Order: sequence, then structure tokens, then C-alpha cells
Amino acid sequence: MNDNFVTLANYYGFKRNASRAWGKYKEVPVSISDETLFFQVIVENSADVAGFLSTAKENGQIDDFDLSGFSMKIRYQNRSLSETKEFFESFIDFLILHQFRPVCGMCKQMVDTEAAMVKGELVEICDECFGKLKEMADKKPEVKPHSPMGYIGAILGAAIGGVIWVLIGKLGFIAAIAGFAIVYFALKGYNLFGGKHKRFTAFYIIVVAVLTVISAELISTFLIVQQELPNLRFNEQIKIMFDFILNEETVRFEFFKELAIGLLFTAFGAWKILRTLIDGPEIEIPLQVERV
Ligand SMILES: [Zn+2]
Repeated sequence: MNDNFVTLANYYGFKRNASRAWGKYKEVPVSISDETLFFQVIVENSADVAGFLSTAKENGQIDDFDLSGFSMKIRYQNRSLSETKEFFESFIDFLILHQFRPVCGMCKQMVDTEAAMVKGELVEICDECFGKLKEMADKKPEVKPHSPMGYIGAILGAAIGGVIWVLIGKLGFIAAIAGFAIVYFALKGYNLFGGKHKRFTAFYIIVVAVLTVISAELISTFLIVQQELPNLRFNEQIKIMFDFILNEETVRFEFFKELAIGLLFTAFGAWKILRTLIDGPEIEIPLQVERV
């Protein structure tokens, strides 16, 4: 690593931080690092720039360059200070001769730009874009308080998943895949009713989901009993259902098989969806914008 850019920055009166220096030389906005010159300008005929830089590369004045749209990156590492200065000034003169126009890094318009630090990144942007960004940055994000209704939302959401479970079972498919839907809707419901993400949320939703899976499978089984023995009273049907689950081998096997697969799907859904909750809420980097 060489510190040419520090010397260059001082020589041209540029501002700088640890890794970059920036400023305008003969009205051309430029920023430099210890190995690259960055320009965000456009000339009438971009082929002229490519030609100029190719020649400079052939002559060994620069290492390499990269032109994409209005952004120009020119690598000049391992050049002496005087070599770099000579190239830098000749390129600036070339840009002026070819009536360069600065380009705003945000709106991509050919307008005057100034350097700004946006989320720690150095960019050349116009005043209008800077104003917009500044407004966004100054707006305090609305922090909604946690609503305990979220816990009810989770139960309602899980219930939707439970209904899906019962319906799939009714149609004769493996209801257990709805275990995924139960977790998914539980979390949706929790969010919808204003629950905030806390570590506890993850465990709460898992408990709700597991209870819903068990309930859904009980209801599915009950519906079969009701269908088979429609003349019995409700409490008798319930009693027979539990008798079957506990004592009738085939019913017991089906019941626990479905339950086990369902919980597997629940765990699968829970793993993906809830991991972020367990890891903690996402911390958004606040938008910081300033002219530099
Ligand atoms: Zn702009």
C-alpha cells in the first residue's frame, strides 16, 4: 500500500478520510484512493476516453482502467508521484477539452455534483438528490410499540393453518404438510396484530404451532368419528375418539404418524422463519447523509 493519494490529496487541496480523498481539480470532480482514480463524468464521445486511456496504459502511465457508463476507474498503483501527477493533469485537461459533464450518481442526470457521504460511501450527487436523501435521513423512523394483540394474532394465524390442515385431511391427502402453514400464518398473524420481534416470540410461536398441530389432528380424527358414527351424541363421539386413539392400533398409528410428520413440517417451517427471531431483530443501519 502506498500513500500517494495522501500526498496527492494535500497537493491538490482535496479533503480525505482514511481510504479516499476527493475534491475538484479545474472544476472536475474526482476522488482517489491509494490505487485508483475515480471519475463520475461523461464526455460527448466515450470512445475518445477509451482511446486516451488505452494509450496511457500502453505507455505505462497507468495500470488499467474500467469504464462503465459514466463511471471511470483508473488504476495507477506503483507509479511515482510525479508520474501520477503528470497523468492526472493530462487526463483532467483531456476531459475539459472534450467538454466533460459530471453525472449525478443517483439520478444519473448530467448536472453539477458535489461529494457526499451516504451510509459511509463516498458518492458524487446533485443538490436535488442530496436534498431528497437528507429528508429521508432526517425523518425519524416510526417506532411502533409492541402490541400484546400480537399474541392473539399468532393464535388466529395458526388457526388458519389448522383449518388448512383439516381441509387437506378431509380431501384425503397428508395433512401434515400444513404444519408449515401453521407456523407461517402464526408469524404473519403475530406481525399483523402489531407484535414486535423479540426472542420470546420465537418460543411463543413454536408453542402455539405445536398446540395447533395437535388440535388440528384431533379435529381431523373427530370428523372421521362423526362421519362413521353420526348417531352418537357429541360427548360420546369425543370419548370414542380418545378410546380409538389410545387403544385401537390402526387409529393410533395413523394419528401419531400424522402428528409426527406434521411436527416435522412445523419444525422445518419454524427453523426457516423463526431463526431470525431467535438471532434477534434485524438492525437497520440508519441512513446517514452529509456533504463532505
Ligand atoms: Zn441527482
